[in-house]
Amino acid sequence: MVDIDYYEVLEISRDADNETVKKAFRRLALKYHPDRNQGDKEAEHKFKEINEAYQCLGNEEKREIYDRYGKAGLNGSSGGFGGFEDFDLGDIFSSFFGGGFQESRKPKSVDNYPLDVEISLRVDFKDAVFGVQKELKYKIKTPCKTCNGSGSKDGKKTTCPHCGGRGKISERRGFMNYIQTCPYCKGSGQIIKEKCEKCHGLGYDEEEISFKFDVPKGVDTGLKIRIADKGNLSKTGEYGDLYVNIIVKEDDKFIRNGDDVYVEIPVFITQAMLGECILIPTLRGEKELRLHVGTKDKEQFVLEKEGIENIRTKEMGRLILQVSIKMPKKLDEQQEKLLKELQDSFGIKSNCVIEENLFDKIKGWFK
Ligand SMILES: [Zn+2]
Ligand SMILES: [Zn+2]
Repeated sequence: MVDIDYYEVLEISRDADNETVKKAFRRLALKYHPDRNQGDKEAEHKFKEINEAYQCLGNEEKREIYDRYGKAGLNGSSGGFGGFEDFDLGDIFSSFFGGGFQESRKPKSVDNYPLDVEISLRVDFKDAVFGVQKELKYKIKTPCKTCNGSGSKDGKKTTCPHCGGRGKISERRGFMNYIQTCPYCKGSGQIIKEKCEKCHGLGYDEEEISFKFDVPKGVDTGLKIRIADKGNLSKTGEYGDLYVNIIVKEDDKFIRNGDDVYVEIPVFITQAMLGECILIPTLRGEKELRLHVGTKDKEQFVLEKEGIENIRTKEMGRLILQVSIKMPKKLDEQQEKLLKELQDSFGIKSNCVIEENLFDKIKGWFK
């Protein structure tokens, strides 16, 4: 794939905030969408580039890596930075425009509420790496005992006048048609004549439940874990499932990309010149790292199997150390003297004396 600059593609500045990135993507994706540019190869290519750029810049973690290490940082990860090929167009559109119906695993319930429950769980960076036990506390719905879950006082229902009993309505937005669940009857096609006084027509009560859950090691933001039978209770006595959306908090030292972890290590200039042995932080404690003579700024050292254990394959990611050379800001007399001696030893003259042949060379430019 040709090297493209993601910021240029989305026509935004490098310090654009999240909202600007989103807006730019939305505007350009609509402009170059294949539906609007039938058979136009150039638009199709542009559309792919826009998507690729957004996949990176729309994700805080990936964007940070991209800013620091460029595309190479993203491509080299074992966690896999999916290109356009394995990326579903429907996904991104439905997440933006809220269109389409999600196919659920279980048949649609006859209750007034979905059986599955979704919650978010924030996990610290280290806990995500090593696993942790968490108490999950949330509310589930159970059928109202007074109306037996119907929500109706007399048990009677009539056809929803809003959707005519279809349970769905269509709405036109721009050049696309969106089908939505009817907000009046919530998709059932029927509404209650007289509401149950206990549940105010909702048909359910809420109950708080809690249990201990072992978060497996290797979880990452965006992972959804299903826990069977921990969802809402149906009228027929079945429980739905619980879906836990994992959100991993960022660490201020370690930056994660899939199973790989990046860390910047400050190295004083003389240590780099001498190729000294330095102490470095890893996920599992301190380690020694031997630099080599003349280690450069931004040079990377890769420690295999020092990253994060993959939640599925159990393979270990890498720890990538990036050198950041530190310079002294001030020198005392002694240090200045030593540095001048050092400079002399390399045959470099001080005090604004320009090397003769260098001067000749420059004069040569104007001939
Ligand atoms: Zn009720
Ligand atoms: Zn309706």
